Amino acid sequence: MFNINPFENFTEIEQISYQDELKNLLPEYVSEENQDMGEELVCVICMNIVYDPLSCSKCQTLFCSRCIKEWLSLKNYCPIKCQNVTAQTIHKKIKDLLSKIKIKCPRNTAGCKESPFYENLESHLKNCQILKFKCVYCFFTGSKTECLEHVKTCKLSFANCENCGGEYKKKRKDLHTYEICVEKITLKMVTISQEIVEMKQKNQNLKDILKIYKFPAEIVKEVTIPKKYLL
Ligand SMILES: [Zn+2]
Ligand SMILES: [Zn+2]
Ligand SMILES: [Zn+2]
Ligand SMILES: [Zn+2]
Ligand SMILES: [Zn+2]
Repeated sequence: MFNINPFENFTEIEQISYQDELKNLLPEYVSEENQDMGEELVCVICMNIVYDPLSCSKCQTLFCSRCIKEWLSLKNYCPIKCQNVTAQTIHKKIKDLLSKIKIKCPRNTAGCKESPFYENLESHLKNCQILKFKCVYCFFTGSKTECLEHVKTCKLSFANCENCGGEYKKKRKDLHTYEICVEKITLKMVTISQEIVEMKQKNQNLKDILKIYKFPAEIVKEVTIPKKYLL
């Protein structure tokens, strides 16, 4: 069987990788029972739950390693303002504490009900049965069905042709064929010529009014108006 569906390879949605999910864990994913720990788990640089954490050598605050490394490459104080600090491996006690915290699977919005322990989140995501997708044009995420539904109308998925002004799906510019473009331009030209005809008619009406206004009939009869004044 030949594949004749032109939308078959039309990829407007992408599956989100678990690495991306781990780097973008929203603070609200801390499970209800661990809400009291929530604040300490948030990296104040990226405002997500810390990923691969390191701590400030003075205040022990947790930050994602990539966030604090980038920060300290530019400044010599931590985001909490301790001076001359380094990012260090987290303390064993904090590590133990972290391991007991439950995080809602980031695919909870797509239907996963699991809340694995922080340290098991990565392995859970690798095996999670629910898959999460994202719109390739905007920040929309959800199940495959939700995403496919969303991209049908996603405002950012459309572009306008620079020749005819017509709308087409950015990923499928090939569907905006030469024939379609020419047809749209022709249609536009027809509209424009109709407008020109209307404008000419209006202009004529105006001229007629001006003639009457400037030169009342009896004057016109008596005076020979120089040709250049005639509209
Ligand atoms: Zn961070
Ligand atoms: Zn600090
Ligand atoms: Zn899950
Ligand atoms: Zn979108
Ligand atoms: Zn066009």
